Amino acid sequence: MAKERTQFLSGYLADVFAKEDPQLASLMSRAVAEGLPDISVSPETGKLLSILARLAGGHGGARQAVEVGTLGGYSAIWLVRGMAPGGKLTTIELNPKHADFAAREFARAGVSARIQIRRGPAIEQLKVMAKTMPPSSIDLLFLDAVKTEYSEYFAIMRPLIRANGLVIADNILGSKTWWMDDAPGTSADRDAVDQFNRMVAADVGFESVGIPVGHGILVARKIGT
Ligand code: SAH
Ligand code: MG
Repeated sequence: MAKERTQFLSGYLADVFAKEDPQLASLMSRAVAEGLPDISVSPETGKLLSILARLAGGHGGARQAVEVGTLGGYSAIWLVRGMAPGGKLTTIELNPKHADFAAREFARAGVSARIQIRRGPAIEQLKVMAKTMPPSSIDLLFLDAVKTEYSEYFAIMRPLIRANGLVIADNILGSKTWWMDDAPGTSADRDAVDQFNRMVAADVGFESVGIPVGHGILVARKIGT
């Protein structure tokens, strides 16, 4: 698909389905002005995250969710707005500047009490969470940090996902620097995400689908009761 058409369709979807409030509409331009990279999910992807957070777990919205890769808090605000009233989101961020910016945005959005930022490398933080949280206690896991680490994030957190819980991953078809139709071997991220997609698709404990919205979203539902 031509780049112009992709951009038009993204703008159309955002305009028709994913109206942002004034804070979200300005969040990423304010973040970029402070030196953060312009790599948040798109508005239409954010809206999808919000609806999935409302559906995850099958009890009126996710009560416990985990995000890997906070950046400026854009996707986290969409997510938490879809979660059950009082539901808690933990979001992991390595870069202190990004975490500080996101903390201010969470306060401004009135959701600070519902979002905990865990600062540090994702794998280390997830391992701590996997040790301290009970099995089957997470309704939604959203992966959006280091693409070559997605498979490890999934492996660490898999036992913590409850039946009907969702694992969601961003950038399963591309990013600003690569697309899945690039030749294998040209991008470590591309190859790692390809492997991750195929691994989740083959996991008999989940049913999964890839959705070509934004840079591509994987949605995997944990099977069971
Ligand atoms: N989910 C965000 C975008 C995340 S961008 C949104 O859509 O709004 C990826 C983020 O992961 C960046 O902020 C980056 O600093 C962070 N990151 C990079 N390496 C990391 C690591 N090893 N552990 C945790 N976070 C990391
Ligand atoms: Mg992303």
